Amino acid sequence: MAKNTVSMDKLISLAKQRGFIFQSSEIYGGFAGGYDLGPLGVALAENIKNLWRKKFIQERDDVVALDSGILMASKTWEASGHISNFSDPLTECKKCHKRFRADHLEEDGVTDCPECGGELTEPKQFNLMFQTHAGPTQDKDSVVYLRPETAQGIFVNFDNVLQSSRMKVPFGIAQIGKAFRNEITFRNFIFRVREFEQMELEYFVKPGEDEEQFKYWRQFCMDFLTNDIGLKKENAHFRDHEKEELSHYSKSTTDIEYDYPFGTKELWGIANRTDYDLKQHSDHSGKKLEYRDPHSNEVFTPFVIEPSVGVSRLLLAVLVDAYDVVEGGRSTTTDANKEEEVVLRLHPAIAPVQVAVFPLSKKKELQDRAQGIAKVLRADFRVQYDESGSIGRRYRRQDEIGTLHCVTIDFDSLEDKKVTVRHRDTMEQERVAIEELTDYIKESASNIST
Ligand code: ATP
Repeated sequence: MAKNTVSMDKLISLAKQRGFIFQSSEIYGGFAGGYDLGPLGVALAENIKNLWRKKFIQERDDVVALDSGILMASKTWEASGHISNFSDPLTECKKCHKRFRADHLEEDGVTDCPECGGELTEPKQFNLMFQTHAGPTQDKDSVVYLRPETAQGIFVNFDNVLQSSRMKVPFGIAQIGKAFRNEITFRNFIFRVREFEQMELEYFVKPGEDEEQFKYWRQFCMDFLTNDIGLKKENAHFRDHEKEELSHYSKSTTDIEYDYPFGTKELWGIANRTDYDLKQHSDHSGKKLEYRDPHSNEVFTPFVIEPSVGVSRLLLAVLVDAYDVVEGGRSTTTDANKEEEVVLRLHPAIAPVQVAVFPLSKKKELQDRAQGIAKVLRADFRVQYDESGSIGRRYRRQDEIGTLHCVTIDFDSLEDKKVTVRHRDTMEQERVAIEELTDYIKESASNIST
């Protein structure tokens, strides 16, 4: 199995320097398990989410969107089983009092404290939901939870969506939104965080057609990752859950795992949740969440197939997958002490910047012309204008953030109305007529495969 050799330290430092990801509350020493997206991180995450919306909602006529609240009636979580079941086994070192996930230590074959070698306590179950209070009094009746998954907002709205949109089974409801989990251990940058966005689809099907649909969605998700997001095929794998690992609500579950530098881990969970959730909410609320087949009049509780992925976990896979170190450097311009250069080979659909525009020198007439060209390109592309530093340095900055094309305006441009376009992956440079620039870049981006 292919293993990723990207250095996480270098990736984390690039992510900070270039404004992808910052540690939360850094000036106060940091907030464990929290990260903030910087300007390029926001752009990358938005591009990933838009692509998901396009593939999972816009291009289909059987999926509609929903945006439900983070806070919900607490009964939701009683019905879903989260109050009684949503927990991880926690163990504590008797010597240094650090806490760990017992299941993670077991996976790593560790029996003593990994920090100091001390003896560990027997694991205790620890509920992962964050609690707060709604209203002025703080008692057990005012307890509310920050949702640990977006899915339940979909299930409780099943009938609202069905009645208002007149969808027919099989159909899906999709949602992107924040979820919160009071995770205990953090090791791998943004892989496991306390506050994250989920992209979830709940796809409702007729019982009996569930396993076929499950297989369909599993492959759909893999295709999305490797064709649309552009992850390398050899780094993403299916892993079917064994019967003993299945959640209480699940008939089958497959994880799409990714070869992160710190190990092969779950990126995307695809589960056949059966009719568990709709039945639980029907029982607890008294409102029957069922479907009547318009042709046969048969009434049934649909089964549901759920592909669920975290935006930040996918963003990390995207960064790791695109991160390429060129030993000895690749610049055409020489720069002393340059040992290695980084190229972020992002897929054109998600690269935060598609075109960078540079005036060759600080001469006003070049800057004005370059800014004019940048303005025109902005109608079609995500553009960054940069006039500081040598051209070689500007190319390197753009390579590090995955920019596909750099356009340089020089003195000849004023005469021959042409500019130099430099390509990220091949470093080839071509003179292109300004009036053909938009078409040229579109054509070139469509030919880039990662
Ligand atoms: P894990 O075993 O890694 O804790 P899980 O099996 O509990 O994950 P699910 O409940 O299936 O995860 O959540 C669906 C998806 O949400 C995961 O595949 C992952 O992409 C994302 N996710 C879950 N927990 C986190 C977290 N703490 N930080 C970031 N993403 C998360």
